[in-house]
Amino acid sequence: MKMYIDGQWVGSSSGREFAAVNPATGEEFETVPMGGEEDVKAAVDAADAARKSWRDLPASQRADYVLRAGLLIREQLDAIAKVDVQNVGKPIREARREVGAAATAAIYFSGMARRMYSNVVDSEQPKKFTMVVRRPVGLVGVITPWNDPASLGMWGLAPALVTGNTVVFKPSSNSAVISAELVKVFEKVGLPKGVLNMVTGGGGEVGEALIRNRRVDMTVFTGESATGRHIAEVNAPLFRRQVMELGGKNALIVAKDAELEVAARAALYAAFSSAGQKCTAASRIIVEEEVADKFSRIFADLASKLVVGSGMREDVDVGPVISWSQKEKALNYIEAGEREGAVVLAGGGAYEDEERSKGFFVKPTVFGSAHNDMKIARDEIFGPVTAIIPVDGIDEAIEVANDTRYGLSSAIYTKDIKNVFKAIDGIDAGLTFVNQGTVGPEVGAPFGGVKDSGFGMELGEEALEHFTKKKTVFIDYSYGDRPWYFGLPKG
Ligand code: NAD
Repeated sequence: MKMYIDGQWVGSSSGREFAAVNPATGEEFETVPMGGEEDVKAAVDAADAARKSWRDLPASQRADYVLRAGLLIREQLDAIAKVDVQNVGKPIREARREVGAAATAAIYFSGMARRMYSNVVDSEQPKKFTMVVRRPVGLVGVITPWNDPASLGMWGLAPALVTGNTVVFKPSSNSAVISAELVKVFEKVGLPKGVLNMVTGGGGEVGEALIRNRRVDMTVFTGESATGRHIAEVNAPLFRRQVMELGGKNALIVAKDAELEVAARAALYAAFSSAGQKCTAASRIIVEEEVADKFSRIFADLASKLVVGSGMREDVDVGPVISWSQKEKALNYIEAGEREGAVVLAGGGAYEDEERSKGFFVKPTVFGSAHNDMKIARDEIFGPVTAIIPVDGIDEAIEVANDTRYGLSSAIYTKDIKNVFKAIDGIDAGLTFVNQGTVGPEVGAPFGGVKDSGFGMELGEEALEHFTKKKTVFIDYSYGDRPWYFGLPKG
């Protein structure tokens, strides 16, 4: 594959490439340009040159490109979903939903062009009109991770483009091939050259060059908290605008009055979809003591029945993790959990069989009798590992839920309205789901976290605030003196 700069598909200026690996087989299936500073500069030059013409186009016309891109993704859904499976290992049913969500985001944000409202302020003086106009921020660097490459990519690209910004897109090296599918769609609908550019390569080279480039006006970053903190440090002295969507260690609370089977099924999907590689994954399941054993039995039994294998198979529930190193990381956490005294109730290691030992598969692992101070309950594992933590009542459950440096998603299963409101009020997170797992945002509602999970919410109408800057305009139509002017003689 190639990078996309100024409307052309090009290799890296150094000629270097790296291999894209299928996580289900460990086999290389594509080569990807290893971009560097020169390539970022070329992409920024192109995005810079396209600023004016793109910004001058009425928003409704900009939105037409984004709408058509969304509709084209829907038309090609199955083919693009297969690239998603091949590149990041998602099960095909999940990949279709993820790619579908990318289309939905494009369609939703194309409508924003007709909702770019602003304010008229009643002036304090007579014969004066005061209004606020919105303008694009300028040139936006969109940096994405690999776990939901199509949808997360579109969450940045679509609102940035509709609101009149030009973009340099830097996808994760682990998902460059599927990310290029988004760019191809924009190319097919005739997006003018330079408006969207994509540079592939390492975070330390391409990402770093992009954030160091002073012509970039805004960073939209989704990734690890540590990377986000570093980028925020680079942005701060430049007073650069940024949206930070970072890691999570999300708690799902199960109250003793909950229907345990229903809660367990939802928790299972929240913990193990995308093989647990979701910023919103339910990695701590906090259960009231009285039902902890029963819940644990139901949950572990369901986990052990999950179908784990190549995402290309329609019957597969859980695919591989993204890479060999991510597999090692998950296995190390499983060992740490056992060392610290949590009990493995399901899974607990890698697969030995011929097919799965070639790929990066980890058994969906459930720890029971865990404590919130264990490593498995503190760190973001980003793999198919979750821990059940028994607690004494809902107040303690909320305390434990909050005892983390993260604050992205949360959930509670209960039929008791008091518990519901305690959770809404008490959990310090960007999202709280009631009687749903921790996953499954909606495009029309703001999405984001607090604490180390980041700041600035994506999706919903919030996007308009992030991707436009406001200017207040005062129009004095008295065209005369004001009482406070200097009392100089006239004429
Ligand atoms: P990562 O931080 O390693 O990488 C994310 C992106 O940043 C990649 O494109 C990478 O190349 C780039 N990058 C790395 N170093 C950089 C630098 N110095 N300058 C600029 N860019 C740089 O994250 P990852 O491992 O790809 O993704 C997993 C993480 O993403 C998890 O922590 C997960 O929780 C988080 N995530 C958050 C959300 C959310 O919306 N809050 C959504 C999905 C994933």
